[in-house]
Amino acid sequence: MEPTSLQEAIIYFANPDNCRAYLVARRWPDGVICPRCHSKNVLFLEKYSRWHCREKHDAPQFTLKTQTIFEDSPIGLDKWLCAMWMICNDKNGISSWEIHRALKVTQKSAWFMMHRLRLGMKEDFGRGPMNKIGGEGHEVEVDETFVGGRKKNMHKDRAIRYEAKGGASGKAVVQGIIDRNLRQVRAKVVPNVKRETLQKEILTQVKYGSKVYTDSAVAYEQGMQWRFVHEMVDKTESYVKGRVHVNGVENFWSLLKRGLNGTYVAVEPYHLERYVDEQVFRYNNRATEDNPLNDADRFDAAIRQIVGKRITYKELTGKDEERQTPAQPF
Ligand SMILES: [Zn+2]
Repeated sequence: MEPTSLQEAIIYFANPDNCRAYLVARRWPDGVICPRCHSKNVLFLEKYSRWHCREKHDAPQFTLKTQTIFEDSPIGLDKWLCAMWMICNDKNGISSWEIHRALKVTQKSAWFMMHRLRLGMKEDFGRGPMNKIGGEGHEVEVDETFVGGRKKNMHKDRAIRYEAKGGASGKAVVQGIIDRNLRQVRAKVVPNVKRETLQKEILTQVKYGSKVYTDSAVAYEQGMQWRFVHEMVDKTESYVKGRVHVNGVENFWSLLKRGLNGTYVAVEPYHLERYVDEQVFRYNNRATEDNPLNDADRFDAAIRQIVGKRITYKELTGKDEERQTPAQPF
């Protein structure tokens, strides 16, 4: 029986056979194939917890971790999967200190693990018209928030890149878009609050003909009426004008900020996008009346997204990873 709670997940994933069964069923539902050449002509080497591809090419062996967010990690899947369970299902977020204590990995490893897990949770919304939200009759809310950044804690390369993006004011801008009908959110860190920037994102993410509600910021005063039924909310007024409000996005901001200020101490602006991705995942996979998702469903959804994504310690920090333990297949 697959796990339905954290306690069951800890017991279940302590067994390598269970880790394998769970991951194989999701990654290779039609049988294991080689991630490099996609051949089915593979042999499982039980003793080494690896597969061997019989086709002729370099690096014929692969593991469950190959070409996933877990690639090349010395940390066991028992810990990885429990950490994923925790981060998917705690709506206030988990800190790296909690992961460090719960799983007995160093705090530094826990921090790196969490960034990898967030990359796994990042939803691929794509850029094509098929991936847009909204549509005829849909009500869409758009809003921005500022998140205080402390540039002095940033790695130098990151700081330069961040400034180039226009983040010199020290505050990062996050734009959020919610489709009330689909109950889905899109949110991303944007370089500034200029009209082109904010409207471009709406054009990319929202289908023409949607009812779009924004605040009355200058960025939205012109250019929206061509493709959307656009109405603005005056946020300085204390009442809500019927259906025209952005309370849904504001609710999302309060979830995001609760996590950022409480659980995650001192978030660098460069890492902010990963925290936003994490919150977007939880929001889009939360239980609603017509979609009663549970913890096991959310974990399953995240695990289906771990393939083909990788972030290295160097990419995150600009430093090489000091490591005592070699990579493990499990
Ligand atoms: Zn192969």
